[in-house]
Amino acid sequence: PYTGPSTSDILKKREEYLTCVSPLYSNPLNLVEGKMQYLFDEKGRRYLDAYGGIATVSCGHCHPDVVEAIVSQTKRLQHSTVLYLNHAIVDFAEALASKLPGDLKVVFFTNSGTEANELALMISRLYTGCHDIISIRNGYHGNATATMGATAQYFHKFNVVQIGVHHALNPDQYRGTFGSDGVEYAKDVQDIIDYGTCGRVAGFIGEAIQGVGGVIELAPGYLPAVYSSIRKAGGLCIADEVQAGFGRTGSNFWGFEAHGVVPDIVTMAKGIGNGVPIGAVVTTPEIAKVLTQRYYFNTFGGNPACTAAGLAVLRVIEKEQLQQNALVVGSYLKERLNTLKEKYEMIGDVRGRGLMLGVELVTDRQLKTPAKAEILQIVDQMKEMGVLIGKGGFYGNVLRIIPPLCFTKEDADFLVDVMDYTISMM
Ligand code: PMP
Repeated sequence: PYTGPSTSDILKKREEYLTCVSPLYSNPLNLVEGKMQYLFDEKGRRYLDAYGGIATVSCGHCHPDVVEAIVSQTKRLQHSTVLYLNHAIVDFAEALASKLPGDLKVVFFTNSGTEANELALMISRLYTGCHDIISIRNGYHGNATATMGATAQYFHKFNVVQIGVHHALNPDQYRGTFGSDGVEYAKDVQDIIDYGTCGRVAGFIGEAIQGVGGVIELAPGYLPAVYSSIRKAGGLCIADEVQAGFGRTGSNFWGFEAHGVVPDIVTMAKGIGNGVPIGAVVTTPEIAKVLTQRYYFNTFGGNPACTAAGLAVLRVIEKEQLQQNALVVGSYLKERLNTLKEKYEMIGDVRGRGLMLGVELVTDRQLKTPAKAEILQIVDQMKEMGVLIGKGGFYGNVLRIIPPLCFTKEDADFLVDVMDYTISMM
């Protein structure tokens, strides 16, 4: 049994000594243990975690193979490996490169998604000798200067200088002006190049499915058209796979693959370490060469414990066929959520791929008025019934379902039944 400080003590200290965002629930949850798709609070109460993917967990909380890899590596050596040789970093780099298409095989390790995207943007600027970056409105790429500039939601932006960053129309199939016509939205990127730059750009960054933005899958046809415009303008195409990568979308290992494009740079984090802080940038040997012009030093990037974890994660994904599981369970879950949509007017849209799903709540289907107050009640109430689910989107009205990839059909049934009951009681 848990013998640590009480939940109210933790909350009080958190308020006094930390500056952080407010807890997700009105009655905050004190988590003390995790096991695969389940989390446990201080009273030993079990919760089904349908939101762990957001916070890095891909294989399942405390997956024994990953824990074993971290512990055994930490017992042998945990140090910076920038200046020395060690097998863990090269083992993971080689395994990671084998998961990427084309000539994408040179890896730089970082400690987070933000750092990975910062580095990707810097590489693009160095390689092209240009400064202008185009990103998509409603996208999220991180919280340091360049990535905050590329991020396009006002509440995630502080007063950063973002000269040379342009935010293109969001190819949002639910709310966007052109519906599912990706090529129409892509014209905005060409317009930005033509009217907002000297005709040459450093690059483009985008998520295949916007995560923080509310699980918005880019309209089909968008990425191929955008990549073509960017490349004609001399720029590099960056795929931010921090959320959608690593088998989560089920149909593919990477989110961009569903769009039939091959990026010049791929960034990743979160799920690749199953809970340890690690990010990575993968690019081609030719592009990677630009980093030898200076000294790119990242003390803990690629440290042995984190890369040992990364390699274990890849092996678990393969051994337990988690990508396939994401496809099967995700498709089943989406089908069931679509049945709920038929039952409740409040569900305006069900979307996403694999185990990255979103349910957009509206008070008026015609006007698509965001159900901002209702969603808070639903998230809170589902937690009381033992299911943890996230919320997000520009209006904060999208339920986000991003569970560990070991989620089962029974878990999916439980989640939908709880959601059904919760909405029916409103
Ligand atoms: N890119 C995407 C798509 C993300 O969702 C996030 C985190 N929400 C980041 C980058 C930044 O990652 P981190 O929080 O690890 O810096």
